[in-house]
Order: sequence, then structure tokens, then C-alpha cells
Amino acid sequence: MAVELNELRDQIDAVDKQIVELLAQRLSLVEKVGEVKSKHGLPIYAPDREAAMLASRRAEAEKRGVPPQLIEDILRRTMRESYASEKDSGFKCLNPELGSVVIVGGNGQLGGLFKRMFELSGYQVKVLGSKDWDNAEEIVQDAGMVVVSVPIHLTDSVIKKLPKLPDDCILCDLTSIKAEPLAAMLEAHSGPVVGLHPMFGPDIPSMAKQVIICSDGRMPETYQWLLKQFEIWGASICAIDAEEHDNGMTLIQALRHFTSFAYGSHLSKENPNLDTLVQLSSPIYRLELAMVGRLFAQDPELYGDIIMSSQRNIDMIKRFHQRFGEAIQILDNQDKQAFVDQFNTVSEWYGDYSQQFMRESQNLLKQANDAIHRGK
Ligand code: NAD
Repeated sequence: MAVELNELRDQIDAVDKQIVELLAQRLSLVEKVGEVKSKHGLPIYAPDREAAMLASRRAEAEKRGVPPQLIEDILRRTMRESYASEKDSGFKCLNPELGSVVIVGGNGQLGGLFKRMFELSGYQVKVLGSKDWDNAEEIVQDAGMVVVSVPIHLTDSVIKKLPKLPDDCILCDLTSIKAEPLAAMLEAHSGPVVGLHPMFGPDIPSMAKQVIICSDGRMPETYQWLLKQFEIWGASICAIDAEEHDNGMTLIQALRHFTSFAYGSHLSKENPNLDTLVQLSSPIYRLELAMVGRLFAQDPELYGDIIMSSQRNIDMIKRFHQRFGEAIQILDNQDKQAFVDQFNTVSEWYGDYSQQFMRESQNLLKQANDAIHRGK
């Protein structure tokens, strides 16, 4: 039996080596695609090409008796690598006439990421750091664009402190809240103004498929090239009014981060053995632990600022707390029927999304399971 198995395993190893060889070939072709895209200013993420390519490969796989989802998983994973490597070729500069790009807070996490991206696109980038204010006038003298990327609680005062900018200079920010910084920028500068919120952190492999929220401020025609530049980097632009953005972020960011914070605090006080919990975890619980745990690997100041950035956030969190209490009442009353009724009400509210989310999460869980190594 051992011989028979070894022979088959040798054949599998040989096929795997061919797969590695084919992947190497594919990556080198992708590198060339990156160069062509960079030269012609084409976005690194091309949704239509991606969808058409996946559909063809799925059909071909099916004909060969290969599960279509298998080839799709492999190709999507390969494409992630491709997007990350395509940026190494740099990007076409859409506004070569622009003066320098000054990033206030450009040595920070997000400012640093944008600094690299602008440099990869051929712009001249300068940083205005916390110790550079004595030279601020000189630094912004030839600025074509000033990007504010400082901690949220300092954003307002930093915008107010900016020296007079050239009239046609674009003033923008990357803050996780939008209404206040936008109002401060409109007050501080009479030229073009735009509020931006990248919906990602500095740890992304590339900007492909990432969202940058854009709240118009003044003279939008003067910064359309900037939005196109982001699209070349692979990002999708989502235009939204600043107030509406902040309302949405109350749920998407403030409440979510706060519930992770409260859950993590609860866990640490209950003090279970984390190793044992991880060992016992099904992929879904491990994923949940990871989603909560990753918050505590990041900057407490940033998350404190995001959660406490508005009274609206705190009011929302208090309403959640109240509903949590109401749900506990159901338990205290041992009222199973009330639980089922409420469950059904929520399920109806989710509508078709609950089935869609079920499918999406099943895929995620399968991937989480693939990543687990149970050996000693
Ligand atoms: P960070 O603390 O890593 O960077 C902030 C930078 O600002 C630091 O280099 C700091 O030295 C500098 N700074 C502080 N005070 C300054 C001053 N007075 N003048 C000039 N520079 C000053 O923070 P970050 O995570 O990069 O966040 C920056 C902005 O990006 C915030 O508005 C945040 O809401 C937004 N943002 C961050 C993320 C993220 O995941 N990190 C995601 C989306 C948006």
C-alpha cells in the first residue's frame, strides 16, 4: 500500500510543481500587463475583464469535471497577488503639471500609504510633520494639493493652522469623519476643497477594489483627475454628502468598533485561556475572535477618536445598550416565544440579504477552515 501511495504522491508532487511553474509564468505576464497599464494610465482593477475571464474559466473547468468554484477561488487568489505586484510598475501620472503634493501627517500610517502611492505615480511629495510648522509657509508655497492626514482629534486645529495656500491648490483630508473637517477646510481655504475617507487601513496589499469615499466641497471640476488617479490605483469612488457619510459611519464604524471593544473587554475580564478557546473554535468562532482581536492590535487613539467623534455615535451606542437590555429581559423571562418572534422580525428585515449573507459567509468560512493547521 505504501508503495502504491508513494507513487501517487510523487505524481501529485509533479503536478504541483507544474502548477508552481504555471503560476510563475502567469505572474510574469501580469508584470508585463502592469507595465502596459502604467504606461497608458489604465486602472489596475478592471471589473468587466475580471468577470468575463472568471466566467470563461468556470465554463472550461466544468467541461473538464473540475468544480467551477475551485478554479474561481484559485484565480481570485492569484489576482490578489497580481494586483499587489502590478503597483510595482508605478502608475501613470494624470496631472503632471500639478505643484507638489504636501501631506500633513505624511509620516503616519495612512498618510505614509498615500505618500507612497503619489510617489509611485510620479508626483513630487512633501511631508508636513508635527515638527515642521516653523517652515510650513515654505513647504506649501508651491503646493498643488495639500492632504491632511493627522489624528482625528487634531484635524480641526491643524486645518485652522495651515498657512495661506496657493489659490488653485486643492485642499483635502483623509479623516474617518467628514462633516467637521470639510467645514473647517471650506473655512480655511477659498480654492478647491474635497473630503475623502479611504475605507481601508495601511495594511492592504493594493488598492484594488477598495473604496474611497468622496464628499464634494468646492470646485469639483478641479479635482476630477484626482478621483481618476485613485481609480487607476484600483480604488472605487463612492460619492456621498458629508452628513450622510457620518450617519452611515455611526453604524459601520463607531457601533461596530465599540461592540468589539466591549466584547474584548468582557473576554479579558472573564479571562479564559485563549489558547484553549482557539483550539476549541470552529472556523466561525475563530473568525469572530480574530475580528475582535485585530482591533486590539491597532491604535487605541484612532479607535477612541472614531467612536467618540460625535454625540450621534454615543447616542447610537446607548440605544444599542438599551436594546441589549431589552433582549436580556427576554432571557430573564425565559420567553422563548418572544425570542422566536423577534428573531423572525429581524430575519424579515434582512429580507433577501440574509440568504446572500449566508452564501457569502459560507465562502469565507471555507477559506478560514483552509487556513487552519491542526498539527502539533
Ligand atoms: P497616525 O497616528 O499613524 O498618523 C498621524 C500622523 O500625523 C503622525 O505621523 C503624526 O506625527 C502626525 N501629526 C500629529 N500631529 C500633527 C501636527 N500637528 N502636524 C502635522 N502632523 C501631525 O494616524 P493614521 O492612522 O494615519 O490616521 C490619520 C488619519 O487617517 C485620521 O484622520 C484617520 O481618521 C484617517 N484614517 C485612518 C485609517 C487607518 O486605518 N489608519 C483608515 C481610514 C482613515
